[in-house]
Amino acid sequence: MPSTRSLEHAKLSVVAPCYNEQAGLPEFVREVKAVCVQLGCAYEIVLVNDGSRDDTLGVALGLAFADPTVRVVNLLRNFGHQAAATAGLDLATGDVVVLIDADLQDPPGIIPQMIAKWEQGADVVYAQRRTRDGESAAKVLTARLFYQLLKRMTKTDIPRDTGDFRLMDRRIVDVLRQMRERHRFIRGMVSWVGGTQVPVVYDRKPRFAGETKYPYRKMISFALDAFTSFSVVPLRLVTYLALLIILVAFVASVTVFIVRLINPDYFIPGFPAMMLTIIFFGGVQLLALGVIGEYIGRMYESVKSRPIYVVEGIYESGKAGRVGVSEVARTPERT
Ligand code: UDP
Ligand code: MG
Repeated sequence: MPSTRSLEHAKLSVVAPCYNEQAGLPEFVREVKAVCVQLGCAYEIVLVNDGSRDDTLGVALGLAFADPTVRVVNLLRNFGHQAAATAGLDLATGDVVVLIDADLQDPPGIIPQMIAKWEQGADVVYAQRRTRDGESAAKVLTARLFYQLLKRMTKTDIPRDTGDFRLMDRRIVDVLRQMRERHRFIRGMVSWVGGTQVPVVYDRKPRFAGETKYPYRKMISFALDAFTSFSVVPLRLVTYLALLIILVAFVASVTVFIVRLINPDYFIPGFPAMMLTIIFFGGVQLLALGVIGEYIGRMYESVKSRPIYVVEGIYESGKAGRVGVSEVARTPERT
């Protein structure tokens, strides 16, 4: 696709959510900065401190103090990876925005390749993992299973083996900023927006420092968000299951009828029919209620339309050379 885009007159924002990343943060910023300098464009590095319990904020503020291209967004508490990323995307000012993990599992070194594809006209360039070093076999397996299931369950084409590491054109970011849903599955939301979306393949590295903040508990809730935000298949599954159970109940009834023909005294009269009805229809109703509840719960959360995160302050080297609060917004939503 012919394109007149060029990084020369554009600004690049690199957005990284950080939760307990004090050990790796200086190295991360050093690497990102090296890439930006090499690109030779205007840039900013937006570090979102997602309520870290270690000294991530202190380290980030130190980096911002030393370098005016580093901005720090401090959230009031831990809102979770997807919310922190949302805060960063909302506050990024670049014409091109790269969302990246702060643990160096996403190599900043491939950003120039992403930029090249953007200059050729891509609206979204997502990083697709070829390998996953340093991740347990269980994590690789569950991830694979997750993407296969998701692919079957939704019409939105969400590429597999991708994280949230991706480059987005300003137009895409602006659409994302209008999507204020509470249960966020950002990579799916980006796919939903559309436009020209192309991959860049890379080898996923082990974490530079610290440990994963996605234990299985969080992964399951993340997967649930993905499925329910992008698919109504769980609802339909209940319908199928209900039909199946009704069928089983029917077959069982016929069996009871035949047994009774052969041996009329086999059951206490009325008992099997009653039990079958109670058990099966009870099960069907409970299941249906459970799934409906899941969706109603999500609607309830959306109807409340609380902010997705709360910013404590934004810190950047001021003109006086001092890091200070440049804005304290309780609800940074602008849409
Ligand atoms: N993260 C965050 N808030 C959280 C959990 C994680 O901002 O509640 C950040 C974390 O600092 C990292 C990124 O999100 O930059 C991805 O997290 P992690 O590396 O733990 O996930 P994994 O790579 O193991 O899937
Ligand atoms: Mg990681």
